[in-house]
Amino acid sequence: MISIRLPLKHYRFFSVSGVIVIEVVYTASYHNIQAILVAVMIGLSASVYYSGSKALTEKEGENMAYAIINNYIPVSLYPLKATYPMTPEYITIHNTANDATALNEIAYMTRNLVATSYHVAIDDKHVVLAIPFDRSGWHAGDGNGSGNRKSIGIEICYSKSGGERYKNAEANAIEYVAHLLKQYDWGIDRVKWHRDWSGKECPHRIIDEGRTTAVRNAIAKRLEELKAPKPIPPKEDVRMFNPSSATLKVAFEQYLTDAIKEGLISDKWLTDFKSGKLSLDDALALKVIIDQRNK
Ligand SMILES: [Zn+2]
Repeated sequence: MISIRLPLKHYRFFSVSGVIVIEVVYTASYHNIQAILVAVMIGLSASVYYSGSKALTEKEGENMAYAIINNYIPVSLYPLKATYPMTPEYITIHNTANDATALNEIAYMTRNLVATSYHVAIDDKHVVLAIPFDRSGWHAGDGNGSGNRKSIGIEICYSKSGGERYKNAEANAIEYVAHLLKQYDWGIDRVKWHRDWSGKECPHRIIDEGRTTAVRNAIAKRLEELKAPKPIPPKEDVRMFNPSSATLKVAFEQYLTDAIKEGLISDKWLTDFKSGKLSLDDALALKVIIDQRNK
């Protein structure tokens, strides 16, 4: 089974086994339409998610897209790589320090037989999930400290050579981490660097380029945007038909009753009028219809 889900609710799918969840985030509405068309064509259900980040230019919006792919490690590897049950409290950000794709990064992690492991790898196209967030990984270098035992490890790919691919991978990570924070109802204080736990210079590219504050601020800003209440569409001003005098009311009721008796209109209109739910527009139109049909 494949499903395309928008808006984002990653967390719900983690315990579902044998289900590939592809979650697509596009920041340009044009791409939303494309994604939905594709989903409909292959017989899937989809609903519109528009992240609506005003901070993004159209060009950046086009670059920022990821699909979430479930590539969980087999349960047989849990003792080695996802050793303990975990209730996450933090998100730890890493750079891979190589140029592998997220899918290859996870494939490598799954086939080698060392304990090193993390939950998610992100590149310019994909967010690949490898370990459910209710299991611990081995990525923070702090033994049984909170980095390993209480944090979701996220690797940002392509950090070795950098460039456009890395830039887009990092932008996707910012987007994804902001969604995770919102989902867990966490603040930006839950975001840690690998360096915070063990002193290792990781995420090396973000640190080397002196952008730890900038990346943190970008996540915080995106989180605020996601948390902002959706604007409520202005209510249409519908005026109800409520005659001010009892005489008028009775007369109109009688008028409708007669029309119903003669089979000109349905009795729904009388029910609506009696309960004050007949709009002025409908009352006027009813008069026209009754007169026409009465000829
Ligand atoms: Zn690291």
